[in-house]
Amino acid sequence: MTKREREITDPEMILDFLNRGKIIHLGLCDGDQPYVVPMNYGFTMEEEELTFYVHGAVKGYKYEVLEKNPKVSFSIECDVNPFSGKIACQYGTSYSSVLGKGIARIVEDPQEKMNALTILMKTQTGRDFEFTEKLVSIVNVIEIKVSEYSAKQRPFPEKMKKEQD
Ligand SMILES: Cc1cc2nc3c(=O)[nH]c(=O)nc-3n(C[C@H](O)[C@H](O)[C@H](O)COP(=O)(O)OP(=O)(O)OC[C@H]3O[C@@H](n4cnc5c(N)ncnc54)[C@H](O)[C@@H]3O)c2cc1C
Repeated sequence: MTKREREITDPEMILDFLNRGKIIHLGLCDGDQPYVVPMNYGFTMEEEELTFYVHGAVKGYKYEVLEKNPKVSFSIECDVNPFSGKIACQYGTSYSSVLGKGIARIVEDPQEKMNALTILMKTQTGRDFEFTEKLVSIVNVIEIKVSEYSAKQRPFPEKMKKEQD
């Protein structure tokens, strides 16, 4: 990582970014042509093992791509706030972000799908929802087992904060 001083390794901070990001930009490989699709997600972090769940309609291009190649990359961000300056190079954007790679799998088992959607709704809303087999039968669920990830943060400049107050 360039700008190594911006790397975040504190697990609590990474969890906070993942809880607040809400949108995953999922990078898929269609042969030599990358395809990036934004989706809402849920996640679990168990003993540093990160897993995402996304869901959608039962048909679509992303499934065609995933069937051929389950390898994915992802990007999630929050705290996105542009700031300005007197000259062009003083402009910028503060952010907190998590990037990584993993392997995707279409979840077929109804019980697993119900669990995944409960996790997804918890991440998205903070609330506990329950699902029936009938409800989950009309959607596809993708599980992404993350093999590696990193987090980075560019804080909003202190000087600008003072000017805004
Ligand atoms: C903030 C956000 C959150 C989203 N959350 C979800 C979610 O949780 N679940 C979900 O299923 N979908 C979500 N979507 C929609 C998602 O991005 C896709 O449009 C959808 O999943 C269909 O993708 P697909 O690959 O199956 O494309 P298809 O429906 O098969 O469409 C094929 C083509 O349509 C175009 N296309 C597809 N999606 C988009 C798009 N978003 N914008 C512009 N062009 C597009 C592309 O050219 C693509 O090749 C979200 C979109 C946004 C912006």
